Amino acid sequence: MPKFAHDAHTHTVYSDGIGGIAENIAAAEEKGLRLLGITDHVHYLSERTLSRYVREIKRWGGEAEITVLAGIEGNLTFNGVDVPDFMARKLDYVIASVHEWLESPSQYIELVKLALIDENVTVIGHFGANFPHIGYPTLEELEEVLELAEANGKAFEISSRYRVPDLEFVRECIRRGIKLTFASDAHYPPAVGSVSWSEKVFRKAGGRKEDLLFEEFL
Ligand SMILES: [Zn+2]
Ligand SMILES: [Zn+2]
Repeated sequence: MPKFAHDAHTHTVYSDGIGGIAENIAAAEEKGLRLLGITDHVHYLSERTLSRYVREIKRWGGEAEITVLAGIEGNLTFNGVDVPDFMARKLDYVIASVHEWLESPSQYIELVKLALIDENVTVIGHFGANFPHIGYPTLEELEEVLELAEANGKAFEISSRYRVPDLEFVRECIRRGIKLTFASDAHYPPAVGSVSWSEKVFRKAGGRKEDLLFEEFL
C-alpha cells in the first residue's frame, strides 16, 4: 500500500465510468485509501444531475470509513474552463484538463495558463499527457506555468494513468510549494486506487505529506 494513500481523480456512471459512486468508494476502502475524490466529466452533468451527483457522493461518503470528496473534471478550451460558477460552488474541488487535440505545445501551455488564472480551478489534470504527440514545451514555457501556479495556489495531479508530469516537474512543484495529488483517473472500480506510479514519483522527488493538497485527510 502506498504511503499517503489517496486517489483524487476517479470517474463513475455519472460520466463515462462504468461503476457507481458506492462501488468506487467500496473499492477505495478495500484498497486502504484514506481519501477518494469522485471527479466526473462536467459535460455529462446538467444542473439537475449535478445536485443528485453531489447528494449521492455526500450520502455514501458520510457512511464511508474514509474521506470522500465531490469534485469534477472540467475541459480546458480556448474560452477557458467549462465549469460554471454555480457548479464550482457546490463542489469540493475542480480539476481542469486538456482533452482536445492541439497543434503545438505552445497552444497547450496557453490553455493551461487560462486554468491557472481561473478562480474555480483547484488542480491541473494530467499535465502534459499529449506532449509525446504534439511535442514538448520550452523550459521558459514550463517556468511560466510553474510561476503562475505558485502565485495562484494551483495544484497539479501526478497521474498514474498518463504517467505525467515528469520527475523534474514534480520536483520543481515541491521546491516552490505547489501542492500535488495522486490520481488514477480510474473509469471502473477495480482501477480505483491504482496510484503506485504517482506515489513513486512523489517519493523520488522528495515529497512529504505537507506537499499534498489533501494532507489534512491523509
Ligand atoms: Zn482527463
Ligand atoms: Zn479523468
